[in-house]
Amino acid sequence: MDRMDRLAKERRARLAAERLLEQKSRELFAANEKLALHARALSDQIVEQRQAVRSAQSEAETLKDQNLRFLSDLERAHTTAVMAERRLWDSINTIRDGFAVFDSANRLIAANEAFRTLLECEDLSPGISYAETLRLIVDNGVVDPGDDGADAWCRRMAARWDADPIEPVVVALTSGVWLRLIDRRARDGDMVCLAVDITEQMRIWAAIEAIPDGFVLFDREDRLMVCNQRYRDLYPESAEAIVPGATFEAILRHGLRNGQYPDAMGREDEWMENRLNMRHERSVEFEHPVAGNRWLRVIDQETPDGGRVGLRVDVTALREQNAALEAARLAAEAAVRAKSAFLANMSHEIRTPMNGVVGMAELLCDTPLTDEQRLFAETIRSSGEALLVIINDILDYSKIEAERLTLRPEPFDLERVIHEVAMLLQPRARAKGIDVMIDFDIFLPTRYVGDPGRLRQVLTNLMGNAVKFTDSGHVLIRVVGVETAERMQQLHITVEDTGIGIAADHLDHIFGEFNQVDSASNRRFEGTGLGLAITQRIVEHMGGAVWVDSEPGRGSCFGFRLALPVAENADDIPTPVSLSRALVVDDQFINRTVLERQLATCGMKSALCRSAADALMVLQQDRDFDVILIDHEMPEMDGLHLARAIRDTGLEAPILLLSSNAATAMAAQQAGLVAAILAKPLLRADLYRRLQALSAPLAVAPPAPPGQSRQLRVLAAEDNRTNQLVFRKMVKDLDIDLQFASNGREAVEVFQTFKPDMVFMDISMPIMDGREAACAIRALEGDAAHVPIIALTAHAMAGDATSIRAAGIDHIMTKPLRRGAICDMLTSCTSAGVRPPLPAPQAETVAD
Ligand code: ADP
Repeated sequence: MDRMDRLAKERRARLAAERLLEQKSRELFAANEKLALHARALSDQIVEQRQAVRSAQSEAETLKDQNLRFLSDLERAHTTAVMAERRLWDSINTIRDGFAVFDSANRLIAANEAFRTLLECEDLSPGISYAETLRLIVDNGVVDPGDDGADAWCRRMAARWDADPIEPVVVALTSGVWLRLIDRRARDGDMVCLAVDITEQMRIWAAIEAIPDGFVLFDREDRLMVCNQRYRDLYPESAEAIVPGATFEAILRHGLRNGQYPDAMGREDEWMENRLNMRHERSVEFEHPVAGNRWLRVIDQETPDGGRVGLRVDVTALREQNAALEAARLAAEAAVRAKSAFLANMSHEIRTPMNGVVGMAELLCDTPLTDEQRLFAETIRSSGEALLVIINDILDYSKIEAERLTLRPEPFDLERVIHEVAMLLQPRARAKGIDVMIDFDIFLPTRYVGDPGRLRQVLTNLMGNAVKFTDSGHVLIRVVGVETAERMQQLHITVEDTGIGIAADHLDHIFGEFNQVDSASNRRFEGTGLGLAITQRIVEHMGGAVWVDSEPGRGSCFGFRLALPVAENADDIPTPVSLSRALVVDDQFINRTVLERQLATCGMKSALCRSAADALMVLQQDRDFDVILIDHEMPEMDGLHLARAIRDTGLEAPILLLSSNAATAMAAQQAGLVAAILAKPLLRADLYRRLQALSAPLAVAPPAPPGQSRQLRVLAAEDNRTNQLVFRKMVKDLDIDLQFASNGREAVEVFQTFKPDMVFMDISMPIMDGREAACAIRALEGDAAHVPIIALTAHAMAGDATSIRAAGIDHIMTKPLRRGAICDMLTSCTSAGVRPPLPAPQAETVAD
């Protein structure tokens, strides 16, 4: 046992020790664990605290930075504020307007330099009160307080500040400067004052006030901005409403209610609408009546900013003057019309009996008379003609004066017109022994478009003067031209004479009215002194110009320039084929050379002789001439004697006699001495026609025996017995059947039964006038052959011709009638089975 016990005891003791150890281990483990937990918690705490410390540190850093930044910002802000304030004051000091700030107790805080300068108070320092400032200004004499005195002025100005809002006030300084004071109370009680220099504006305004017319300016909303006193005065009934800010419409309506606009009475709405509509136009100008029998001219114009500026001019006096002028103009026009009508009637009244006088005298001269009787008859005729020239001149002049000169362009033959004028002047020229010559440039076209009637008048004046003022020598008409454009010729026509000439000091005003070179040398020439004035006006009316060159005692040269379109050439100049050589005998050098050139254009060569003796000498050597052209009137041996002498030599070549007195040469032609007589001045076309007739084999149709053809039937309607007689006498030698009718109705009746080939129709006739009769005849004709009707008229007013032609009349002849013209007209009328009114040979010669 012991051992066992001891063993057991030992074992038990060991087991108990092991159990104790195990427990102590467990307790140690638990204690360890607890310790570890605690240590971890402690460590976490330490970490947390460390973080807190770190964030506190960084926060402190940030705050420190911020603090620094704030400090620098503050610094900068302060600097900026100081600079801004300085700048502000610098700026405020630079403006021309005065600026000042007073505190709520009305004590000056600050004022700019302009404020001090304008108010002439350099020592105005902060702290001074407004009342003291005012007093200072008055005491310094900067403003004139006026009759009320300084106290009252200062009180009034101080009292302004109590009003709300404070009305601006304009103050005139003694220096001439005008200030507008504008004051405003700020929210904190400070008073801000502006003193605006409006001197410039006031000057402009003073000028606007000084305008004698009403001035007004509306803004873009059509509200009145400004107007001068004159504007208000012109609209006294609207004046009340004419206040700045009032709309135009309101002012207008006010005026309308108060009778400002008499023309609106009874149609107010329409008037108003119309007037307001005009406001939309950019600019308007019109006149309207206003109360008090006055008229205003309204001129309104949009301004660049969309407003409207207007002027109102009182035109009452002007309108009255205009009305008086208009009445005077109408009266003057009526007087001119009456004068023209009177002149036309006068001319008619004078021409009708003159037709009898001149026509009868012409016929009388053709009868056998004693020398004394011839002198009387010639005097009657020439005096009558002179009177007609004067009547025509005065009539023309009055037409030009009344601006009733109208041009009637038509194609015409210029050379023929010149020729016709020369032919008319021929008797006078012949009587004085003057040669009238025409040198029409052979390379120049002859047909143009222009007014032949007026050109004839110009040429008659110039050529008539040339003949009138020339006692010996010649009158030469030269026509040259240059082609300025296709079918356009610039013509130079000159009329040259060898007459008395004009002194240099008279040349300048020779084209004036009633201008005559009133010297002893030309007082023996009759005339009205209107011819050249009329000539100049006509030529200028045609777009041309006239001029004159003259030398006293040597002659004159009148010329005019005209640009005329070339007309189609109706009959080209026929070129003779078989004639090649001509002998030309003329004592005038110009005539010889002109003839030579004319003959050269149709391929002929000429030998030129200056006298009959010369010619006979040439013929002794050379007889090879196809034609001989001889001038009728030559000194020593005349043309007829030369013709006879040539025939006596046995030469057969045809002879053409150039004569300015065809009648006296007629016998020679009848005797077969000469082939034809060519009237001088020579018309180129006549010469060519004659030459061609000579060159062609003569195939003349045998004249119809009188029994087999009838006479030309001519109806003449003329109410005046004397004129009937004149007409009858003028055609007495012609082979015609003539019947008269003494008024238009009778003419129409005779027309139906008599069936005339030609009708001469007086225009002014009782019962039915010539125009109506012509119309009736044209109606009767229908599609049947057209019978030529020739108007005989004493009327010469423009417009007559139009109405005459409108009646279906073909030609117009102006009284007094000329036998030559009537004969030409009758011979121009040919129809089958009708005998020519003139025997064949005579018909070929142009009757004088
Ligand atoms: P009138 O011939 O009717 O007197 P004009 O007006 O035709 O009137 O001419 C005015 C004046 O000019 C003439 O009176 C004359 O003195 C002068 N005169 C005109 N043409 C010529 C001329 N060819 N030669 C000389 N004087 C002339």
